Amino acid sequence: MKKIAVIGVGYVGLVTGTCLSELGNEVIGVDIDKSKIKALNKGIMPIYEQGLEELVRENVKQKRLCFTTDVAQAIKNSEIVFIAVGTPPLADGSVNLEYVKSAAESIGNNMNGYKVIINKSTVPIGTGDSVKRIVSELYKGDFDVVSNPEFLREGTAVYDFMNPDRIVIGSSSIKAEKVLCELYSSLSTDMVITDIKTAEMIKYASNALLATEISFINSVANICEKLGADVTKVAEGMRLDKRIGKKAFLDAGPGYGGSCFPKDVKGLIQIAHESGTRFNILEAVEDTNTAQKQSLLPKIQQVLGNDLHEKNITIWGLAFKPHTDDMREAPSLTVIKQLSDRDVKIRVFDPIAMEQAKKILGETVVYENDLMKSVKDADCLVIMTEWPEFKSIDLKQIKSLMKKKNIVDSRNIYNPKEMKDMGFEYTSVGR
Ligand code: NAD
Repeated sequence: MKKIAVIGVGYVGLVTGTCLSELGNEVIGVDIDKSKIKALNKGIMPIYEQGLEELVRENVKQKRLCFTTDVAQAIKNSEIVFIAVGTPPLADGSVNLEYVKSAAESIGNNMNGYKVIINKSTVPIGTGDSVKRIVSELYKGDFDVVSNPEFLREGTAVYDFMNPDRIVIGSSSIKAEKVLCELYSSLSTDMVITDIKTAEMIKYASNALLATEISFINSVANICEKLGADVTKVAEGMRLDKRIGKKAFLDAGPGYGGSCFPKDVKGLIQIAHESGTRFNILEAVEDTNTAQKQSLLPKIQQVLGNDLHEKNITIWGLAFKPHTDDMREAPSLTVIKQLSDRDVKIRVFDPIAMEQAKKILGETVVYENDLMKSVKDADCLVIMTEWPEFKSIDLKQIKSLMKKKNIVDSRNIYNPKEMKDMGFEYTSVGR
């Protein structure tokens, strides 16, 4: 059992802290956002993540998990300190490290003995050294800084933390490495033990490759559309190549979004630039993604005509992926902006993300609480997130409710032939 402080209780910090308490450790989650901590102390979750609320409640009850804004107390009471603060992009795409640096200063100011400082935030190569420098300017005793990037996927974050594909530990200290190996000893998985800079790079390179796969298959999809091939079958055929792999990110769609891929692609382009090299592939990945996010409007115009003024369009799915309410960089936002610029009457439905969406979209759209009613009298239904309930919906009833039988599906969730046979004008991606 270790005493742990987690600085930053966002997606990563809250999931990490909660799961570590579930593994039997004593965890203090600390954040500068007073309202977040106040809500957490009342049992209100700042994010939606499957299974998280129950786990938080149980571990708070068992007194293994608590939340505070008192960073000094959290650090002083802990032998392990995680940094899990945000690393958002700056205007030029480079990584804003102000939160990491301020967390490092808080740690330096409150050191009272040997601690292992673990960086879980996604940070440019060399940031571990900067954290070490900041802490050592403020504290003259012994400590270690370790890089331990996080690979959880939003929507399945708790499961991913408990069942990781691998654990990466970047360290220059055998003592710290041992602490981390002990901490994760109950999670049976492959461990990659390396130096700090390599660990930092593994995280960027992994996200950059996944984003590349998405832009790659979207480019293939666009050719398939022009030439009459089916991208879903192309992906199926590709995945059976063991070098590509069954789980390769080859689902054509509206482009990647979320809090990680867009920012990490930009970040690595900038890191390459600052190192005196150029990551041409990633620059193309980013351009392809921007174009893909904008590729639905022409498809909608194809069925409704160029003038969309006063048309009724319903959007299903707002979050960037199912099972999360994270709206950061969601492709739905691009489509909604394009449609609202054209005076479309937009109605939206998302099972989880509507409260988060309201903070961004305000009154530009009408929020529908009933999936079925949301399509009543619609000229077109646009599907932006592949929520399971959309796949299993009664399409006959949908058809009877819609004014015009147009569906633009950016996630390829229905069978084109069946949709045609049912009388829909159905447009999807790369089929
Ligand atoms: P987030 O924005 O959800 O949360 C960050 C939290 O840190 C916020 O609550 C903020 O108030 C807090 N914070 C900022 N400065 C602080 C300080 N000095 N002291 C205490 N708290 C502070 O961010 P996130 O999505 O959890 O991402 C955190 C890091 O993890 C990023 O580097 C991200 O790239 C990486 N990451 C995220 C994911 C993901 O799916 N979200 C997955 C893997 C890695």
